[in-house]
Amino acid sequence: MKTEQAENVQEPNRNFRAIDSATGFRISDDFERFSQKNDAFSRSTWDPVLQSKKATNFFQAYLMPHSKPRKGEGYQHLDYALRNAAWHMATTIRQIAPGRGEGFQDYFTAHEEGWNEEVDVGNPEQASKVVKNAAIMLGADLVGVAEYDERWTYQERFRRSTLKPGQIPTAEAPDLPEGMTHCIVLGSQMPLSLNRTVPSALSGGASGIGYSQDASTCISLAQFIRNLGYEAYASMNDTGPSIPYAVQAGLGEYSRAGLVITPEFGSRLRFTRVFTNMPLQADQPIEFGVKKFCELCRKCSNECPPQAIAKGDAVSEPHNTSNTKGITKWTTNAEKCFKFWCSQNTECSICIRVCPYNRTFNNIFDRAWRRLAGSPLRRLALWLDDKFNSHTAKKAGWWWKERNANKQRYSSITIEK
Ligand code: SF4
Ligand code: SF4
Repeated sequence: MKTEQAENVQEPNRNFRAIDSATGFRISDDFERFSQKNDAFSRSTWDPVLQSKKATNFFQAYLMPHSKPRKGEGYQHLDYALRNAAWHMATTIRQIAPGRGEGFQDYFTAHEEGWNEEVDVGNPEQASKVVKNAAIMLGADLVGVAEYDERWTYQERFRRSTLKPGQIPTAEAPDLPEGMTHCIVLGSQMPLSLNRTVPSALSGGASGIGYSQDASTCISLAQFIRNLGYEAYASMNDTGPSIPYAVQAGLGEYSRAGLVITPEFGSRLRFTRVFTNMPLQADQPIEFGVKKFCELCRKCSNECPPQAIAKGDAVSEPHNTSNTKGITKWTTNAEKCFKFWCSQNTECSICIRVCPYNRTFNNIFDRAWRRLAGSPLRRLALWLDDKFNSHTAKKAGWWWKERNANKQRYSSITIEK
């Protein structure tokens, strides 16, 4: 196995872009753009390696009549009811047009005609500020801008409805319009209190809320840009991976768990994107010590039940077809991860719950800890996290009890997410 030879050093090749020196992704000559048919969710519909009765049950359980509540805490009717309600908007928005039903991997059909000529909103720096302010107002918790990078556009799209039994899906080009110059990356935080109840069906509500909020924000932001006379295309999982764009847009650093750790929410976030031809100013990748901290800390890989997260160095070899070929990075084994989800009949975010960066950062202690974690005293930061910050799972019953305890008034000010 090829291991990382030196930090941020890369031999230029035809797939290299200048930004790779700042993101730390090391792209080699054999890099291939990912195909959507190869992600674990798509494969579970056509590839015998991931097809199973459990996989079918897993997807169906997001529709209430097919959910299978059971006695265990966190898997009861109330828990599935809230989880599925949290996902409801993310799924429904994609099914507005007739004949749709591909779920959260599908493209949006909610783009409407905007203004008929480009409105001047200032130079690229000013235009970026306008767009970012609009994004926050429309519901984003984080926003950044990256230049369009064709390496992160799927080679082929996957459409379940065109699949024939026993057939490998046929290629379909992504719908992304020509001429996109920038990608606006939006982040929606997942509630910390729900994340604490992982693993449980209830905790799946955290991702559902993130996805539903994302869907609303990115469609609205795309429409705002279209209303200014520019092309804009809202995208969630239908055009390519979000993670590289989130790193390039300066929202956070890539981590051992294969997620982006942000200074504001750790990795407890969902990302979505709006592609546009509006002239914008791209942000720069940031560094606040995550890579070095991850080299020391292995909480996610130690706690991952199917051992899907790398314990060693970044490597270039993919585990299987669900990984992108030709990038040296920490890579999660998506087959193992997905099979575990199916065995639980709900999604898992243990790697997010146990991460030392999984904090609110709304108090001086968390912010001081973040500085320490990014300094040469990171070993002390890890020890402090072990000693004083419990990332152990809470029972779903705790969540329901907390929520229902002695409240006279219910508002987002009095109830922390
Ligand atoms: S989601 Fe769960 S199974 Fe998947 S990598 Fe994270 S801890 Fe492991
Ligand atoms: S748990 Fe530790 S190793 Fe894993 S992503 Fe978080 S900081 Fe990195």
